[in-house]
Amino acid sequence: MPDRHPESPSPASGHWGRFLQSWGASLLEGLYPGRCALCLDPAPAGLCAGCVSDLARPGPSCPTCAEPLPFTGGCPSCQRSPPALDAVSTPFVYAWPLSHLLLAYKGGGRPQLARPLGSLLAGHLPETATGAVDRVIPVPLHEGRLVRRGFNQAEELARVLCRRRGLFVDTRSVTRVRSTPSQQGLSRRARRANLRGAFAVSADLSGERILLLDDVMTTGTTLNELADAVRRAGATRVTAVALARA
Ligand SMILES: [Zn+2]
Ligand SMILES: [Zn+2]
Repeated sequence: MPDRHPESPSPASGHWGRFLQSWGASLLEGLYPGRCALCLDPAPAGLCAGCVSDLARPGPSCPTCAEPLPFTGGCPSCQRSPPALDAVSTPFVYAWPLSHLLLAYKGGGRPQLARPLGSLLAGHLPETATGAVDRVIPVPLHEGRLVRRGFNQAEELARVLCRRRGLFVDTRSVTRVRSTPSQQGLSRRARRANLRGAFAVSADLSGERILLLDDVMTTGTTLNELADAVRRAGATRVTAVALARA
């Protein structure tokens, strides 16, 4: 478990208590400019330092696939099936209250949360993750889902990150050509089959170093399938980042 900051030992006090009190208001009435999206304390970046320090961070994990790795030595997951990605970086764990913010962001249709969530990613992603990158490609949504949701949650996060780090965000070269059923409850193999051929790349990416970006990484199937597609278009190095690892 991550350390909590001292003034908020339980969900009933400190930041958590204020979070519970303010949650309804911030969700129903929208975000207050300059206030923390979780506790409403003053926070120019959209999340205050106290709430951010409470968010669960991953323990030791495989730098290639981000699977938790509580022991030293090789990663069993990567040895079983070598990933298409060269490296994965996920600064946070998909746990409450970040999970609720992410659900409110994409499920609740709150694109304004892109700014605090994108700043959170930019503030905690190691410089090495974006150091040698020619373009950033957010995981594309199928057109039908994009129309229903009104925005692509990965794309909006990528815009914030790329502005902060001076990177080129490419939202045109890859399209999701198949609408794929939900991945939930599927085995790893079924997830892979479900996504096969889901992405089409229209650009020549010969020799490029590509950084893929998603909001949440679950099993990594989507990012690995997209990495395969980008490699077929010529990319020589493909890495990925996600704000949280489920
Ligand atoms: Zn806060
Ligand atoms: Zn691994």
